[in-house]
Amino acid sequence: MNILKSLATAALAGALVFGASASAFAQDKGTIGIAMPEQTTLRWNSDGAELKKALEAKGYTVDLQYAGDDIPNQLAQIENMITKGSKALIIAALDGTTLSAALEQAGASGIKVVAYDRLIRDTPNVDYYTTFDNFQVGVLQANSILKGLGYPEKKGPFNIELFGGSPDDNNAFFFYDGAMSVLQPIIDKGDLVIKSGQKGMDQVGTLRWDGATAQARMDNLLSAYYSDGSHVDAVLAPNDGVARGILSSLKGIGYGSGDLAYPIISGQDAEVPSIKAIIAGEQYSTVYKDTRELARVTADLVDEVLNGKTPEGLDTKTYNNGVKVVPSLLLTPYEVDKTNYEKLVVESGYIKAEDLK
Ligand code: BGC
Repeated sequence: MNILKSLATAALAGALVFGASASAFAQDKGTIGIAMPEQTTLRWNSDGAELKKALEAKGYTVDLQYAGDDIPNQLAQIENMITKGSKALIIAALDGTTLSAALEQAGASGIKVVAYDRLIRDTPNVDYYTTFDNFQVGVLQANSILKGLGYPEKKGPFNIELFGGSPDDNNAFFFYDGAMSVLQPIIDKGDLVIKSGQKGMDQVGTLRWDGATAQARMDNLLSAYYSDGSHVDAVLAPNDGVARGILSSLKGIGYGSGDLAYPIISGQDAEVPSIKAIIAGEQYSTVYKDTRELARVTADLVDEVLNGKTPEGLDTKTYNNGVKVVPSLLLTPYEVDKTNYEKLVVESGYIKAEDLK
């Protein structure tokens, strides 16, 4: 009886020890490094937090770093993640071209690299790319501007000025090209007029997507080309931060008061201050990209790859990084304006209704 009892106790203890070590093992699937660019564009805060949550739920340890818009800082953070033995890197690059040597080291160490939202160019050492359909973002921005202008029912000609994103961000070219695929034929017809004549990413790009830089350029455009009393009817803004910089400039010379109506201004990211500006009739629209979804599918992809599986259903045509086509997972962006923001961004839980008060 005593022997049986102690055998049973030993078996139970063994089971507990085994069980404990098995679950400790299940919870330690290794570290994933997440390199995010900056925190001023609000989305990156949520991207980082959602990625961390999704990966921790799968049993990974997460090393989440923000680079504060500083290129050498991001490189140092990534080198550190490699040295510390991360199993995979999820990188939203500031300037992907500066990362080649670090990524070569990652590749040599068998570390999987996922370009997150922004493609990393000119290296073979990027395994996957998860993002939104970036060309389509630009198409949505341009179509939204036409809708806001009432074109083609209203004939124009309308004055438009163009802004692009940061020239070291590959996405910025996709956004701009997508928008111009819609706008250029109308510019060619003369129904849209770029009074400044400034177009092309080399002339309209906004380094670091900086709102203050956009505000300064808009100030210059207004004084150089619109002081004859002509009205800016539309502005292509590549994201919400840039749109708000442009708005500040316009407000500074009286747009939005008296009979000086705001131009139709596009945006991107569905940031709270811009949804508020849309409700107030200042910004016309934005593009909503559900970054929670991007984080979730990226965490799933990393987990699959680290478990030796090959992710299926990826786009293997669109994103050539200069060395190879990077298999990509593309999510859908949506145009958001005053008529549909409640349904798209509030009811989906992306933004809380009380944050818009
Ligand atoms: C992202 C945008 C963001 C911009 C500035 C782009 O790469 O796709 O969502 O507005 O960077 O951070």
